[in-house]
Amino acid sequence: MKHALVSIVFAVIAFLSIAVPTTLAQHNEVARQARSLAEQVKDSFLDSLPDEEADPLRQIHFRFVADPTFHNAIASISPDGRRHIDIGMGLIIGLQLYCDALVVESTFSRNRVAEEYIVSTHERLSIEGGTARPIEKFARLTPQQAQIWRTDPELARRSRHMQLAALSHIVAHEYGHHANDAIHTGQLRPSPAKQRRYERRADEWAVRKQIEMGRSPAIGAVISNLFLYENELLQFTPDLKRSHPPSLERAMEAVEESIRETDTLLEHENLRGNTRQQLIDAHNSIKEILQSRIDQEAQVTPHSLDRSIRSDETHPVLKRRAAYRLANMYANGAGGTELSYERAYQYFVLAAVMGDPRAQLTLAKMNESGIGTPDGRPNLDQARFMYEQAAQQRLLGARAALSGFRQRHPVTQ
Ligand SMILES: [Zn+2]
Repeated sequence: MKHALVSIVFAVIAFLSIAVPTTLAQHNEVARQARSLAEQVKDSFLDSLPDEEADPLRQIHFRFVADPTFHNAIASISPDGRRHIDIGMGLIIGLQLYCDALVVESTFSRNRVAEEYIVSTHERLSIEGGTARPIEKFARLTPQQAQIWRTDPELARRSRHMQLAALSHIVAHEYGHHANDAIHTGQLRPSPAKQRRYERRADEWAVRKQIEMGRSPAIGAVISNLFLYENELLQFTPDLKRSHPPSLERAMEAVEESIRETDTLLEHENLRGNTRQQLIDAHNSIKEILQSRIDQEAQVTPHSLDRSIRSDETHPVLKRRAAYRLANMYANGAGGTELSYERAYQYFVLAAVMGDPRAQLTLAKMNESGIGTPDGRPNLDQARFMYEQAAQQRLLGARAALSGFRQRHPVTQ
C-alpha cells in the first residue's frame, strides 16, 4: 500500500516545474516552488520508511535555505544538540538545469551539453539579475528540435524523473548522516579519513533504504554525483575534496549495489513487469555511461589543458575555461594532480585576466587569506579589487562576498 502511495506522490510532483530566476522579483516565487519540491521529496521519503525508523527522523529540523550556491545539502547538529538538514534552493534549480541538459544531450546527441551548460550557468545565473541562456539556444537546437524539446511530454518527464531521483538520493543521504550518527558532534572536526567514512556510511544507508523501498538508487546516485562532480571541477573546494570520497566512485558503488540487489528490487510491486535481465541491462548501460565519463576524465590532464591554453588555435572562451579548470585541478589535487595552491593561483590569475568572474572571486578569497599568493601573505588591496571585479560581472554570490569583505576590512579614512 505504502509503495502505491509513494508512486502517486511522485506522479503529482512530476508536474511541478521550476523556472530559473532571472530577476529578483521572480526570486520569491522560485524559492517557494523549490521549497515545495524539497518538502514533497522529504515527505515521500519518510512516508516510505517503516514508522519506527521514520519517527525519530521526523524530529529532525528540515530547513529550506534560499542559498543560491549549487551544492548545498547539509546534515548538521547545532551546539544546543538540535539536529538539522538544510537543502538549498540553488541545488534544486541547478539539478533541474543539469537534468534538462542531460536529456537534450541524450536525445539530440549533443555531446557534453550538460557540462558546458553547467559552466555557462555558473557564469551567468544570478538571482541578482543575471540570466541563464535557454537550453535550446545553448544546445544550438534547430527550430524543429527546439519544438520537440519544448513540447514533448516524454522528454520533460524524463528530465523531471531524473531530478526527483537525484533529489531523493540527496535527501536520503542527509538523513543517513543522522540515522547512523555519521556526523560530527563536538567542537573538533574529525580527520579527513573519518569524515570520508561518515560520507560512505550515509551513502550506504541511503542506497540500502531506497532498495528496501523498491526504488533503484542507481539513477539518483549517478545524477547527483555527476552534478556534484561537475560542480567541483568549477569551484574552489579543497574542504569538500578532503572530506568526501570521489564523486564518480560513489556513483559507481550505488550502481553496483543496485545490480547486486536486482532480485530484491524485483520483489516490489512497482517494478513488476520488468524481467530480471531487463533490469540488469538497464543498470549495465548506466554503468557504461558512468565508465565513459570516468575514462574521458582520465584523458584530461594538466598537460593537455596547458597545451590548449597555449595553443593559438584554441577559442578564447575555451582557453579561459581550460585555465579555470586547470587552476581547480591544482587547488583540489584532482585527477591525480599534485595539490599546489601556488600553481592554482597562477592559473586563476590567467583565467581572471581573461575575464572569468569565478576566478576573480576565488583570487579575492585567496588574497584575503593569503593562500597560494606569491609571497604567501594576504594582499587586501588585491582582494578588494578582485571582489569588485567579480561583483561587477554579477557573479552568483559575488555581491554578498564583497559586502562581507567590506565589513571585515572597513576602509579607514
Ligand atoms: Zn554527506
